[in-house]
Amino acid sequence: QIVVVGSLNLDRTYSLGRLPREGESLHATGHAVASGGKGANQAVAASRLGADVRLVGAVGADAAGTLLLDAVAESGVDVTGVHRRAGDATGEAVIFVDDEGQNLIVISPGANATVTADDVVSDDAAWVLSGFEIPDEAVIAAAHLALAAHARFVLNPSPYRRIPDALAHSIDVMVVNEHELIDALGTSVDSSSDTALLQARARLDVPALVVTLGADGAAAVTASGVFRAPGRVVTAVDTSGAGDAFTGALVARLASGDTLESATLFATQVGAHAATRPGTQSSYPTSDELDRWLRG
Ligand code: ADP
Repeated sequence: QIVVVGSLNLDRTYSLGRLPREGESLHATGHAVASGGKGANQAVAASRLGADVRLVGAVGADAAGTLLLDAVAESGVDVTGVHRRAGDATGEAVIFVDDEGQNLIVISPGANATVTADDVVSDDAAWVLSGFEIPDEAVIAAAHLALAAHARFVLNPSPYRRIPDALAHSIDVMVVNEHELIDALGTSVDSSSDTALLQARARLDVPALVVTLGADGAAAVTASGVFRAPGRVVTAVDTSGAGDAFTGALVARLASGDTLESATLFATQVGAHAATRPGTQSSYPTSDELDRWLRG
């Protein structure tokens, strides 16, 4: 089983002709509410592709919490590890999108900030995936869970903050986009250079580093070399949630026994599929949908 220890957010997206300026009030031209949060997105992406997935996290005892639990469970994810907190609101992301697709996002963590080490339990973990929309304590507990269960630990340090020292030597695979890679290294890096990526992996001191490169696909870096999965040429409609689709798909394939290279190639196809459809979880394919789309 894949255990995702991560966030759930209600995404409230407002469409606007242009983004607001300081002190300004604008009328939205559209409003949509959807199930989101990086943990939930990654769990849904993996589950839709056929993986056995359990999500560990927290929502409020409010209507938004019920909506998120129902949406995630409908994709086949085991949500018995998602706790309901009577005293907290469900996490929310307020997203403004202008006519050019530029966005501005404010996240209110709500119940996500209450996930503690005690919440992080599972008796059947083979792969554990965690990210940074929950407290360090919970991420560290996820790594400990993996260690205790002889499972592999995948970290997606997003949104980036300093990686806790307690995670040193417990990460099997780190998945980052180009911005997170720069933040993690503290310097700019030329991701078109294999040498630069090999140095980055060595500095981050992880066995495997996977860097997503947007339309250019992704690179999987280990001590033995760099594998580049080319981007699939698509007409991108909405790339939000493409990174989470990629990460969920990568772990789904690793859990089914794929090599890192093959899983990375597969994940770029799922990321590209997500970029061609509006929304986040609503843009994630099942294996059948992906096959049909790839045959085009
Ligand atoms: P993030 O959304 O975290 O910034 P990326 O932009 O790197 O991450 O996108 C994640 C993955 O989604 C990429 O590795 C790629 O497979 C796919 N993807 C994203 N944007 C596009 C695009 N415009 N064309 C094709 N694939 C894309």
